[in-house]
Amino acid sequence: MPAPFNTIDLTTLALKPGEGRRLDLELIPEPLELGGETYDFGSEPARGRLEVSRTASGHAMRLSLTAKLYGQCMRCLAPSEFEFEVESREIDQPGSGDEELASPYVVEDELDISAWAHDAIALAVPVTLLCRPDCAGLCPECGISLNDIEGEHRHEREPDARWAKLRELMD
Ligand SMILES: [Zn+2]
Ligand SMILES: [Zn+2]
Repeated sequence: MPAPFNTIDLTTLALKPGEGRRLDLELIPEPLELGGETYDFGSEPARGRLEVSRTASGHAMRLSLTAKLYGQCMRCLAPSEFEFEVESREIDQPGSGDEELASPYVVEDELDISAWAHDAIALAVPVTLLCRPDCAGLCPECGISLNDIEGEHRHEREPDARWAKLRELMD
């Protein structure tokens, strides 16, 4: 099993132009703040793969990860687990003179995998994290989770006096 690592010196791969390397990696990304709540990655490292290819004047890199995030469902607030796939590409050609081609995650040939993974995960996280796609949410009257209820959940309501008044006026 590969040891978790956070950075890698690209020069140690000693790739010639056109050559590539594929590395299995494990990392524990930093927790994310979403909608005022903290979502973390638990104690199990996220598993992923880093592919590095040497270009004429730099490196092209691809990171793919399966990340498991833990936190509350944004609809029913139940503690939940969310799993998703992350894929990101970077190009670093420091000698090209083109800033677009310099990766912000590579400094002096050192690739910061943790920072890259964190940003890639933040971009890949769905806007709404739900415990399940059809999460029924909470009852607006009593706050009970509607996922836990079999059948219909209803509150008998007192007839609203204002409606009665309005009906009188409309007659
Ligand atoms: Zn839910
Ligand atoms: Zn209710």
